[in-house]
Parts: sequence; structure tokens; C-alpha cells
Amino acid sequence: MAFSDFHVHTTFSDGKGTVDACIAAAREQGLFSLGLSDHSYTAFDLTYCSKSEECEKEYEKTVREAQKKAREEHGFPVYLGIELDYGSPKSKYESYDYTIGSVHYIFCGDEIFPVDSGLGKQQAGIDKYFGGNQLDFAKAYYAQVVAHAEKNRPTFMGHLDLLTKYSSFNEENEDYKKIVHEAIAETVRYVPTFEVSAGPIIRGLKAIPYPNPQFLSVIKECGGKVILSSDAHAPDKIAYHFPALLELIKAAGFTKVSRFEAGKLIELDIDTLS
Ligand SMILES: [Zn+2]
Ligand SMILES: [Zn+2]
Repeated sequence: MAFSDFHVHTTFSDGKGTVDACIAAAREQGLFSLGLSDHSYTAFDLTYCSKSEECEKEYEKTVREAQKKAREEHGFPVYLGIELDYGSPKSKYESYDYTIGSVHYIFCGDEIFPVDSGLGKQQAGIDKYFGGNQLDFAKAYYAQVVAHAEKNRPTFMGHLDLLTKYSSFNEENEDYKKIVHEAIAETVRYVPTFEVSAGPIIRGLKAIPYPNPQFLSVIKECGGKVILSSDAHAPDKIAYHFPALLELIKAAGFTKVSRFEAGKLIELDIDTLS
């Protein structure tokens, strides 16, 4: 199997496996390469990220050492990545191999509204900041996605429609679809590649990935590209569900998927993966 996975969390943020355990699991699965991508440090919320900036420095050092060891001992490519939140400065991660651009919070004046920290918190935030209006919430969220892409130019965009994590969100609203369509058309101008993430499937929250398959077609229409990702928080979830994700990608009209290699994203024919 020639799959690679570039969205994997370790014990340095909110993952359950060590760096070494993740690399061992990827090698056991026969992956082509692995990227580790713990959450960037967000001082305003330590729930998911490294608990301190020192801990983040330790993450960088540990992955670099593991990268060298995996290359020398097994010829296995490992990359140092970060899941860059919109609230973290990109400049701190210039030396990393790659960045994933993710929006987990909406910044409302001096306050921070986490969009995926539980259904109750999400609804309370929609009520408090957007008068209960789901579409206004969506507009604010996607405005940040576009701003993240424009300002930080991450290597690829993470979980495009994370705000739909809970079943209370109406993804079939036509005005909502228009908001997403416009956001994709703008985002591809800055960052053309979007991850197709098994995250919501792993968590048992949804049967479909981020982005919703109908938006995969929009990404294709807008000239965007895709990369497979698990957003695994445990070693046994690395490359989770990838053959099924690949079928959805093909159904949306893509013939290629991206892979990070030698400092940049390259595109591969899907047929060489399956
Ligand atoms: Zn995330
Ligand atoms: Zn993640």
C-alpha cells in the first residue's frame, strides 16, 4: 500500500501514542511515509495543544531525532508538521517541514469561541455571538478559513467544514452551500490543497469525511487538489478508512491525490495508490 498520512497527533498534544509508536504503526501498515502534526501552541486554550512552549520545542526535537533514525535505519520518510491554528503565529514554525491550516476557534472581539469543543458549547456560542443564526456562524467561520489561507499560506488546509461536527448543523441549507462554495473559490487562490479527513468517521460522529463529498466536487470545479488524512489521535487510526476516502475522491472527479515529499506537495495518479 503506497498511502501516506500527514495529519497525526502524538502525546505532545492530544494524541494517545508517542512519536515512536506512531512511526512503528505506520511502518507496520506499510505506509509510504508519515507526517506528524501536533496542534500548534494556543496560549488562550491549552485543552488540545502542547501544554507549554517548552513542550512544543521538545516535540520538534523528538520528531527530528525520530526522522533521522527512521531514515537511517529503515529508509522510512517521516516529516515534522504542525496543525497550525489560526490563533498561532506561523513564524514560529518556519523551520518545520509543513503546516496544516486549521480553524478551531472563531475570534469574537476579545473572546474566543471554540467551534468543535462539544455540541453544547457550539450551540451556546452560536446563541451568544450570532443570535442563534447558524448561517452567520458559518459566514464567520469560513471568513477565518479564507483569512488563514491568505495570511499564513499553510501547505494544505485542514478539515474544511469542521463546524459541521455535530448533527445539529444543517449542511443541506442552500445558503450554507453558497457560503462554502464562495469560501472554497477564494481559498484555492492562496492554498490549492485540502485534506480529505477521516476524523469525523473515526470519532463515530459522521459517516462522511471533512469536507462533505458535495464540497469535494466544488474543490475539483474550483481547480483545487486533495490529500488524504486521518487526523488520527491514536497509532491504530493512522491511514484510517483511506481506501473508502479514495473512492469518494474519485467519485468527485479527481484523478490525482497529493503527497508531501522532498519539501513540497506532489500529485500522484490515484490508480497508483489503490
Ligand atoms: Zn483540527
Ligand atoms: Zn488534527
